[in-house]
Amino acid sequence: MPTFTSRFLQALPGDPLVEVAPRQVHGALWSPVQPTKVSAPTLLAHSPEVAALLGLSEAQVRDPGFVSLLAGNTAPPGVTPFAANYGGHQFGHWAGQLGDGRAIGLGELNGLELQLKGAGPTPYSRRGDGRAVLRSSVREFLCSEAMHHLGVPTTRALSLVQTGDQVVRDMFYDGHPAPEPGAIVCRVAESFLRFGNFELCTSRDDVPLLRRLAEFTLTHYFPRLGAPSKESFAQLLVEVSERTARLMAQWQEVGFVHGVMNTDNMSMLGLTIDYGPYGWVDDFDPSWTPNTTDAEQRRYRYGNQPRIGLWNVERLGVALLPLLEDDEALVENALLAYQKTFEREAARRNTAKLGLSPQEHSIELTWELFSFLSEQETDMTIFYRALCEVVKGPSPTVFPELLKEAFYQPAPEARLRAGLEWLQKWWLRTREEDAAPQVLSERMNAVNPKYVLRNYLAQEAIDAAHAGDASGISTLLEVLRRPFTEQPGREKFAQRRPEWARSKPGCSALSCSS
Ligand code: AMP
Ligand code: MG
Repeated sequence: MPTFTSRFLQALPGDPLVEVAPRQVHGALWSPVQPTKVSAPTLLAHSPEVAALLGLSEAQVRDPGFVSLLAGNTAPPGVTPFAANYGGHQFGHWAGQLGDGRAIGLGELNGLELQLKGAGPTPYSRRGDGRAVLRSSVREFLCSEAMHHLGVPTTRALSLVQTGDQVVRDMFYDGHPAPEPGAIVCRVAESFLRFGNFELCTSRDDVPLLRRLAEFTLTHYFPRLGAPSKESFAQLLVEVSERTARLMAQWQEVGFVHGVMNTDNMSMLGLTIDYGPYGWVDDFDPSWTPNTTDAEQRRYRYGNQPRIGLWNVERLGVALLPLLEDDEALVENALLAYQKTFEREAARRNTAKLGLSPQEHSIELTWELFSFLSEQETDMTIFYRALCEVVKGPSPTVFPELLKEAFYQPAPEARLRAGLEWLQKWWLRTREEDAAPQVLSERMNAVNPKYVLRNYLAQEAIDAAHAGDASGISTLLEVLRRPFTEQPGREKFAQRRPEWARSKPGCSALSCSS
């Protein structure tokens, strides 16, 4: 068994109390807590790439002793397991202390933190049971890895363990609680620090604690910004702001909707973190959210994510003000950096998806395309991938059958005409690029994925796992490890969402925190 370390525990003050009863924890950034044992842990799946990052061999990960650690039944040698203390703005309102209510940190291996999600109650569990169900764990496990392979910064997932215990959930908050299989995902990241860790210190006027946390963050994760000072803290804010803006551009590019962009779910390292009621837009619909808890307001809808990213960075800026000598211009500066970065990054990525360089007239084409795509249900992934073929053709004069594949209903004549008009403009533009059509096609294929974690695909793997067959999880992981590569025989993973999945729970509608 490898030995774990923890810079976080070593450098920062912890809670002197060892007691899981829900409570407010002041003056401390973490609380020691032992995972609660589970009855029959089974390793359902693991990520070989993450194991390698941690310096673990296949045999080590599968070893029953290590699986027992991944289930929270064996203590990590070398460190005290802990829950981090943080707060957050939820759905636009300050929610006070939140903290790791069901995630327990195990410390670090090879400079990466390991965390068990669903390992039992902590002082931050409030009314929750500290557990996670299999369906949400399968979703977190698969999506963490899928996002990584798409090139989107994210926390990773080492393992998915079924606990052998049942967990009771009211899936739709409609008064029908039912037992479901429980599971634990071992998440891995350089750091799980969130905007909310900083916000909580400031909300309590605990500036010394805020300063220690910011110093720790600078020293360990942003050393090139220099020694702690007003200037380097301001730089830290700009850096986090820019990373967040880039992340938002990447989410938009692949059609990922996080679903709960509360500030406790915003990573200081610009990673996608906390996979809950997330979803992938099948049809390109800016107003879509998978989160049933947000169905009314749609705050976290697809098209609103970049704006919410900015709002969240502003909350972080306000939290850092005491370290910036209350200089609000420094926060403004970071917000400006966000806007510039997002604009540049989105323009670059959206034009690259069309095989074009990011010039003004090409950026306009991307906007025209967005309005075409959102007029009638059109599958975003299939549409863009089809363009990679169309670009090679001698002309786009006939509306290619390939593109019709992307429509969820037969398109009326007028729509086909509008599509053809756009295609012609775009196709002519591609001829102005200084690369041969074949080269453009290859470039486009490298940024337009064929395989994404469609909501219904995850749900099919979940349904099979509930019926005792977990092999669908590994198969899906295998497909998603190479999202840009044609995988003969696996076409079914790249198809349009079937009609049965249109409004099926889990495929289009999900609730928070399951
Ligand atoms: P989330 O929306 O999943 O990011 O969770 C928001 C807050 O609720 C965090 O503090 C979580 O740790 C906590 N939480 C969510 N689910 C549970 C649970 N089953 N038991 C305890 N705490 C939970
Ligand atoms: Mg969370």
